[in-house]
Amino acid sequence: MLKVDHITKYYGEICAVNQLSFSLKEGEIFGLLGANGAGKTTTFRMILSLLEPTSGKVTLNGKKIDYSVMESLGYLPEERSLLTKLTVEEQILYYGKLKGMKEEIILKRLDEYLLKFGLLNDKRRKIKELSKGNQQKIQFISSIIHEPKLLILDEPFTGLDPINVKQFKEVIYDLKKRGCMIIFSSHQMEHIEEFCEKLVILVKGNVVLSGDLKEIKKAYEKMNIFIRGDVKVEDIQKIDGVLEVITVGGEILVRVKNEQIVPAVFQVVKKRDIRKFVVEEASLNEIFIDKVGEVL
Ligand code: ATP
Repeated sequence: MLKVDHITKYYGEICAVNQLSFSLKEGEIFGLLGANGAGKTTTFRMILSLLEPTSGKVTLNGKKIDYSVMESLGYLPEERSLLTKLTVEEQILYYGKLKGMKEEIILKRLDEYLLKFGLLNDKRRKIKELSKGNQQKIQFISSIIHEPKLLILDEPFTGLDPINVKQFKEVIYDLKKRGCMIIFSSHQMEHIEEFCEKLVILVKGNVVLSGDLKEIKKAYEKMNIFIRGDVKVEDIQKIDGVLEVITVGGEILVRVKNEQIVPAVFQVVKKRDIRKFVVEEASLNEIFIDKVGEVL
């Protein structure tokens, strides 16, 4: 279990992270969200013991994270840090050996991952000759080749096309199944929504929202109704509890204060010729914009 216990980091006068706490069990995926400069990288560096917190502590299975547990950690940084003159095989051998692995095991796992990512024929090519997306795959393989217990993925999908994103996701799910704890940051909320059971939203180092994704969505009462048909927007706007009505591509999106407002909207539109009336909970993207906007 990973326990992040009230960690705070000051850079001089600047408070980059303020009293952040969360915990993670084996096989859980955790989302760390925040706008630019929110404190995500600082948090990752404190968890990995690359940076000492000003106060608070981080423990993995009850022990402070130090050199003795480095072999159980994996980190995919936002910026690529590959040795581009090396071949794919040389690069992964280098990382694997740093993590204390035997050469034959590194080579076996490398072949499995390269096969999965469609890169088996590139094993002896220099990293610099690969496309950016393929370099990202090699960086990813280097962060997981040793089967870490705790994996930190900082914006893992940046620059990847949808097919590559799908391949990455399959590998991430597989790691989860094997009990790996995964912390992941992304500006793309749909990825967080798809993956993370728990999350924290940071704004200027402060926690503005944290907890279980399902509960966060339940507690956030605003809902969206999508309507298609011959409907008068003005009639809907008049309803008490309707926050916003937007017309997008022939469809009307009605934002309402809570679930109780939905029947009132239905009452108004049911007399008209409607082809669609779908009620959905707010997306994480909307919750993020709402919560982050409130405090900026
Ligand atoms: P981004 O999404 O832009 O990468 P982030 O959420 O990772 O941002 P951090 O890089 O952790 O945010 O930065 C948090 C705050 O701490 C920012 O105000 C940043 O300017 C400041 N900061 C980060 N590193 C240092 C440093 N070495 N010295 C001084 N201030 C720093």
